[in-house]
Amino acid sequence: MARSIVVIGAGVAGLAAAWSARRRGAQVTVISAGVGETALAGGAVDDVPWDQLERAARLLGGDLPAGDLAPAARQFAAELGLWDVPQAAAARLATVAGRIRPARARDRALLDLGPLRRTRVLVPRAPRGAWDADALAASLADEPFARARGLRFLPVDAPILRFDDERRIPDGDLAARHDDPARLSWLLERLREALEGAGGAGAILLGPWLGARAPRAEALSARLGVPVGEALVGAGSPAGLRFEAARDALLAAIGATRRHGRVRAVGARRDGPGDRAERVSVHVEGDDAPLEADAVILAIGGLAGGGVAYAPPERGAGHDLAARGAAPFALSIAAPVTLGDARGPLGVVSSMQGPELDVIAWPCGERPGALETVGIRCEGVRAAPGVLAAGSVVAGRARTVLDAVTTGLRAGAEA
Ligand SMILES: Cc1cc2nc3c(=O)[nH]c(=O)nc-3n(C[C@H](O)[C@H](O)[C@H](O)COP(=O)(O)OP(=O)(O)OC[C@H]3O[C@@H](n4cnc5c(N)ncnc54)[C@H](O)[C@@H]3O)c2cc1C
Repeated sequence: MARSIVVIGAGVAGLAAAWSARRRGAQVTVISAGVGETALAGGAVDDVPWDQLERAARLLGGDLPAGDLAPAARQFAAELGLWDVPQAAAARLATVAGRIRPARARDRALLDLGPLRRTRVLVPRAPRGAWDADALAASLADEPFARARGLRFLPVDAPILRFDDERRIPDGDLAARHDDPARLSWLLERLREALEGAGGAGAILLGPWLGARAPRAEALSARLGVPVGEALVGAGSPAGLRFEAARDALLAAIGATRRHGRVRAVGARRDGPGDRAERVSVHVEGDDAPLEADAVILAIGGLAGGGVAYAPPERGAGHDLAARGAAPFALSIAAPVTLGDARGPLGVVSSMQGPELDVIAWPCGERPGALETVGIRCEGVRAAPGVLAAGSVVAGRARTVLDAVTTGLRAGAEA
């Protein structure tokens, strides 16, 4: 009989785990409470944090070659159909903050400056609060990558907003309007005029507006004859909506069962030999009886995704002091696992105010920030008999999309 596996969490780690377990013939149920980190991120797909890459490249004096993806990760990315993963070189993305940064892959709506040389990039002006084409063009032109490649950024007047409300509606709503082929064709004509007016260009950089159900940039680029794409937003971009649409399509295609719900607790029972639990139980809020499965994969995200909660002892304090010291972080689900960070299991803090967050929370030099490393301690992806973990909830791993894919694929294979 097929193994039954419950995946908790529908971010990229949960999706990769479900895909990998289904490939091995398991019956898979994915339970998710809603939005997590993947849906908040902007569409840059990194393997290692990009600032580390930049530091290493500066030290070594040149661009670092991008390693190829493992075959399963490449296959997963191909079936998801959302990302462009260049073979050898990293993509180069323009951020709305005016930086140019490397990324191993990108949501297909984002403009890749990597292949461009000695050309100019048009940046159409648009009267929207978070879009200042002139300031953006000036800071991008000043980036070392732009200077080394001879890239110039030219702000241009182009009436790319069609209706008055488009000055104010959220990026996601404007992006959704470009899911309509007629509206996309209208934008195409405005961009064509802008190109002609400027006497040609090597690319066009827009805000995060090119599709909510799917990336629409490639259709525009093909018809216009020059690459068109979005600038990268740090948090809360339509890239999250596009991920959710692609994820839902992939889960439907592989035949995984979907459930919306918040899991409160996971219990594992080791009845058999070895470290495989006989059954795991999953308690969903509002359900009378728990779900039973052969294994569970916790893909519930880290601190930003809601999988881990900051819980200093003072949180449990009465009128004066907390009853006892405690570890300052807790998993948001009751489960038979150990929390820790890159250094080891979490200890009880002696201060009732919790750890010195102002000292340990943020990265400092080579030391990663505690907020990014705290999670479930695992051997590989195994957290306890019958319980595996994947993605940002795993202690001490890089908080990146491709690392979440790697642990997700592995958890799905081993569950
Ligand atoms: C603002 C932001 C920007 C980022 N930028 C980048 C970037 O540029 N490049 C990059 O590579 N990475 C970036 N990251 C990191 C990257 O997005 C994450 O490492 C990755 O998406 C983690 O995926 P995940 O599946 O582990 O977690 P998540 O995507 O957080 O998924 C967790 C899932 O678990 C569900 N869940 C949680 N608790 C429960 C529960 N009790 N019951 C049921 N479901 C539950 C949530 O609803 C969600 O569906 C960024 C992250 C953030 C927050």
